[in-house]
Amino acid sequence: MIFGISLSADVPVRQASLRQHNLRLVLGQVALVSPQSRADIAAATGLTRATVSTLVDDLVSGRLLREVSPAPRSGAGRPGVGLVLNDADGPAGLGLEINVDYLAACVLDLAGAVRHREIQPGDRRGVDPATVLASAAALASRAVLAAEDQGLTIVGTAVAVPGLVSPDGTIRLAPNLGWRDVDASGFTPGPLTVENEANLAALGELHHGSPGSADFLYVSGEIGIGAGIVLHGSLFRGARGWSGELGHVAVHPDGPACRCGAHGCLEQYAGQEALLSSGASAVSPGASVADLVSAAERGDPATLARLSTAADALGVTIAGVINLLDVDTVVLGGIYAPLTPWLRPGIEAQIADRVLTAAWSPVRVRPAGLGSNAAVVGAAGAVIRAVHEEPAAWLVPASPGKA
Ligand SMILES: [Zn+2]
Repeated sequence: MIFGISLSADVPVRQASLRQHNLRLVLGQVALVSPQSRADIAAATGLTRATVSTLVDDLVSGRLLREVSPAPRSGAGRPGVGLVLNDADGPAGLGLEINVDYLAACVLDLAGAVRHREIQPGDRRGVDPATVLASAAALASRAVLAAEDQGLTIVGTAVAVPGLVSPDGTIRLAPNLGWRDVDASGFTPGPLTVENEANLAALGELHHGSPGSADFLYVSGEIGIGAGIVLHGSLFRGARGWSGELGHVAVHPDGPACRCGAHGCLEQYAGQEALLSSGASAVSPGASVADLVSAAERGDPATLARLSTAADALGVTIAGVINLLDVDTVVLGGIYAPLTPWLRPGIEAQIADRVLTAAWSPVRVRPAGLGSNAAVVGAAGAVIRAVHEEPAAWLVPASPGKA
């Protein structure tokens, strides 16, 4: 008996779930340390060597693991064949991002390495959703071909969008794109999931970045502002998957009108448009975030004042989240990542003023390790993680009696 599972009345179900568990255990062990031999895996997992051999054979024939030459080693005994995640001709995940001013695609292999990336800038506001989805589908096709050229097989696609998404893949509302009830469930072939971009960016940072904590708030600055909430190493989606609309938290209830219909939302003070809007700044209308960074580096007073206003507004709303959820880290992503040096002081000042526990439990404010790629990397990573979590789904079904 392994893992406390006894074989009784519902044997087939339990055997399937035991095999699933053990496949996940072996795959996870190789993901942790590689290359390693079957004997190493048996020693690390507590499974018998015979069981490990069967599981490894299944994972190799299912192209999730591949064998490499054993590393030479001194001492007695023949070194075992090394096993690594199959990044040569194994499965790969495709991430797509549909954002207001760019589209992006990214392919990750089973080991989490980026194998292809493409970014297509262009303002999509007011563009018909079908046209945007067709452009995203073309981007996806090129990514699939690039993966195939490298011997990889795309096994699923996850799409990051700046809005509220229903579990069936319908984009209920993406205010900055001007989309409402857009069905994005089948615009590219193969298994497809659609998810809020800040949620996927938070997952990207959690699994492929360096948040430095398992409890953090990921704040995604784009045309809109979203947040991904990670608690105990898991994404908190909320009852209907719609958590994290930080951009529409009120900073001043009688402030300027927001695209959502309310007034004084955070986006009006700290969204990309507020930061790049015209005014007595060295940054002209139509400027890029890079222009904004240059102006800040030059010490342009109007730019610094605008960044300070944005930081104050961000700090007020973020402090509210920290008081509510007790996260110890704030990760600044999207356009906020390169602007962190100018935003952090204002955000930290508001946290110090407003978070009750800040005096003895400081909160770290840091830029996203993945920069502005977090959402699209997180999307591709979500596909890869599904393979790691349910390897049996990608293999030939086991014959009865297999471990
Ligand atoms: Zn709003």
